[in-house]
Amino acid sequence: MAQKALSHPAGLVDRRRPVRSVLRLVGRRPWRLTFAITAFAIKEIPLWFLPVITAAIIDVVASDGDVTEVLWWFALAALLLLQNYPNHIIYTKNFMTVVRDLGADLRNALTARLQSLSIGYHTRMSSSIVQTKVVRDVENVELMLQQVTHPLLSSTMVMLGALGMTAVTVPQFLPVYALAVPIAIGIRYGMRKRSQRRNEVFRREIETLSARVGEMASLIPVTRAHGLEETAIDRVAGGADGVRRAGLDLDLLNGRVASVSWVAMQLLSVACLMLAAVCALTGFLPITPGEVVMLSSYFTLLTGGLTQLLMLIPVGARGIESVRSIAEVLQEPDIEQNSGKRVVSAVSGEIVLESATHRYADADDDALIDIDLRIAPGETVAFVGSSGSGKSTLLNLVLGFVRPTSGRILLDGNDMQDLDLRTVRRSISVVPQESVLFEGSIFDNIAYGMPDLTPDRVERALRAANAWDFVQEQPQGWDTVVGERGARLSGGQRQRLAIARALVRDPRILLLDEATSALDPESEGLVKEALERLMRGRTTLVVAHRLSTIRQADRIVVLERGRIVEQGSHDELLAADGRYARLHLVQNGRA
Ligand code: ADP
Ligand code: MG
Repeated sequence: MAQKALSHPAGLVDRRRPVRSVLRLVGRRPWRLTFAITAFAIKEIPLWFLPVITAAIIDVVASDGDVTEVLWWFALAALLLLQNYPNHIIYTKNFMTVVRDLGADLRNALTARLQSLSIGYHTRMSSSIVQTKVVRDVENVELMLQQVTHPLLSSTMVMLGALGMTAVTVPQFLPVYALAVPIAIGIRYGMRKRSQRRNEVFRREIETLSARVGEMASLIPVTRAHGLEETAIDRVAGGADGVRRAGLDLDLLNGRVASVSWVAMQLLSVACLMLAAVCALTGFLPITPGEVVMLSSYFTLLTGGLTQLLMLIPVGARGIESVRSIAEVLQEPDIEQNSGKRVVSAVSGEIVLESATHRYADADDDALIDIDLRIAPGETVAFVGSSGSGKSTLLNLVLGFVRPTSGRILLDGNDMQDLDLRTVRRSISVVPQESVLFEGSIFDNIAYGMPDLTPDRVERALRAANAWDFVQEQPQGWDTVVGERGARLSGGQRQRLAIARALVRDPRILLLDEATSALDPESEGLVKEALERLMRGRTTLVVAHRLSTIRQADRIVVLERGRIVEQGSHDELLAADGRYARLHLVQNGRA
C-alpha cells in the first residue's frame, strides 16, 4: 500500500519526552493501529481460557466424570487456538505497516531537517554521525516497536485476563496478586537512571566510531601516501574499544536487570502455589485441586507477563535513546531561516557589503572586519591575501552560508537577511577547489536538479567547459558512471565538469574559490580557459593563489587579517607598490 501523506512528524518528537514522542508518532495512523490491537486481543484469548479448561478437565477426572465432556473441552480449546493464526497475520500486517511507515517518516523528516540546518551546523557535525542517525537510530526505533509491542500487548492481555478470571473464580485471592505489581515497578524504576545513562554513553560511542570510520574511509589515499596505516587503524581501534567497553557495561547492567526480575517473579510464583495449597489443605478457603492448579497457572501467567515486561527494558531503553538522538537533529535550532522571506526570481548581480563583519561562533577574533565593497553587475573581482585572511569567509557571506555578525550584505539593493536564500542561490554557482561529483553518470552530474535540460544544452556546456573531448573518450561517453567524489577522473577533468555544471545553470553570480589551485599546469590552462568563458557577463568573485589567474579581473582586492588593505586593477596595484606588488614580485621571482 502506498504511503499516505501525513503532516511533518518533526514537531511530534521531543527529546525530553521520548516515550510520549513515540506514542504520538504511532498514533498518527489510528485506524491501522486500532485494527492491529483488536486482532491482537482476539488472537490472545486462548491464554485466558486455557487454565479454566485445564481446571475443568482436572476436576472431571478428579470426580470420575464423562469422557465426552473432556472431548468437548478439547474441541473448544482447539477452536480458540486455531483462530490465532489468521488474527496474528492481520495484526502483523497492520502493525508493521504502522512501524515501517513511521520509520520512513522519521527518515524523511531527518533529511528535510538536515537540508534546512545551517552550513555552520554541518561544519560542526560529522557527516558519518548524521548518517548513523538516519540509518541506525531510525532502525533502532523500528526494532524497539517491533520487539516491544508484541510482548507488551501480550503481557498486558495475559495479566488483565489472569486478574479478571481470578476475580470471577476465587476473588479472595486477588490481594496476593497485588503484591507482584509494586515489586515489578520497583525493579523498573530502580534501574531506570543507570540504564538511561549507559545507553546514552553507548550511543555516543557508536557515533564517535562512525565519525572515525567515515574519516578513515575518506582519508585512505592520504593515509596510504604517508604510510600512516597504523595510525589510522589505531584511531578506529580506539573508537571500537570505546564501543566495546560501553557495550559491555550496558550488557552487564541488562543482565542484572534480567536476573533480578526473573528471580523475584519466580519466587512470587512458587509462593502463590504454596499459598493456594495451604489454603486448600487448611480449609481456610474452599478451593478444589483443579482450582489450586488454575490459581497457580494464572499467577504464573501474571508473573511471567511481568518478567517479560521487565526483560523489555533493555530494548526499550535502546530505542528510547535513539529517539533522543533523532530529536537532537529534529529539535536543533540552528536552521537557516528561509520561510516567509522574499522569493527572488531574477537577479541582476549587484553585491554590496556594508561594514560587514563576521566572527565564527567559537573564534576569538573576527574573520572579516568592517568590509565595505560594491561589486557592479557583471564585474569580476579577485580576492588575494595570505591564507586565513578571510577570502573564503567573504565568499561564504555572499552565499549566505554564514551571516554577518554586524553590517549588511545587499543583493540588488535588498538586504540578504530578508531574502529566501534558497531562491537566491538558484542564480549563484560555486566552483570550489575540489569539485564534488556524485555517484552517477556524467550527464546526471551536469544536469543535477534540472530535469528539463536538453542533451543539446549539455553538449554545448561540455564544449564550452573544454570537457567535450575527454567525455567522448570515456567508455560510455556521458553515460559513464563516475564514482563517489568522481574518483575515476583527474582533478582537472572534474573541475571542467563542475564548470559545465555551472554553465548549464547560467548563473548571474559566480564564486570561484581557488578553482585552479589543485591542478597541474597543463589542465590548469584548459580549466582557466573554460572559466574565462564561464565568467563572461556574470558577476564573479574569484579567489586564486596564482596571480596569473586574476590579472584580467576588473578589480583586485587585497585582504589581510580580515581587512581590505588595497584595491585596484593589476596595473594600479603594481604602480602603488604595496602588498600586491610584493606578492607579484615573489611569485614572478619564483616562476
Ligand atoms: P582564507 O580563505 O583567506 O584562507 P578563511 O576565510 O578560510 O581564510 O579564514 C579566515 C579566518 O577565519 C581564519 O583565521 C580561519 O582560521 C577562521 N575560520 C575559517 N573557518 C572557520 C570556522 N568554521 N570556524 C572558526 N574559524 C574559522
Ligand atoms: Mg580559503
